[in-house]
Amino acid sequence: MSDLLERLRGRGWRLTSQRRVVAEVLDGEHVHLTADEVHARAVERLPEISRATVYNTLGELVGLGEVLEVATDGRAKRYDPNAHHAHQHLVCYGCGAIRDVHPQGDPLAALPASERFGFTLSGAEITYRGLCPDCSTGS
Ligand SMILES: [Zn+2]
Ligand SMILES: [Zn+2]
Repeated sequence: MSDLLERLRGRGWRLTSQRRVVAEVLDGEHVHLTADEVHARAVERLPEISRATVYNTLGELVGLGEVLEVATDGRAKRYDPNAHHAHQHLVCYGCGAIRDVHPQGDPLAALPASERFGFTLSGAEITYRGLCPDCSTGS
């Protein structure tokens, strides 16, 4: 579990019922939902929650560093609660499914000094692409 709710409680984030529902929807492993998906699931639990509230709450969570925004080319941004464990993404170019993956070795170390242009590196985002099992069996 990403224990997002625990982390938010630990930070003293004011958990209104609306914020709680958004955090609950995002909690878990391999969660990469679009804002619209978060809204659709939140409505199932709290019918009166508005799209604007969901968007604002997502923005706050990203600002707090507790949720990551994952951009996957050409598709809507996804929200990822797995913000504290360095990981990369494996993306299906058929259906857009995303898995959290942990390549071996340090991705920063993979970039030689001659390719760093004097930058001090702080992170790397790597996207592995391919077809998931469902898409590769061509249903
Ligand atoms: Zn797929
Ligand atoms: Zn992820």
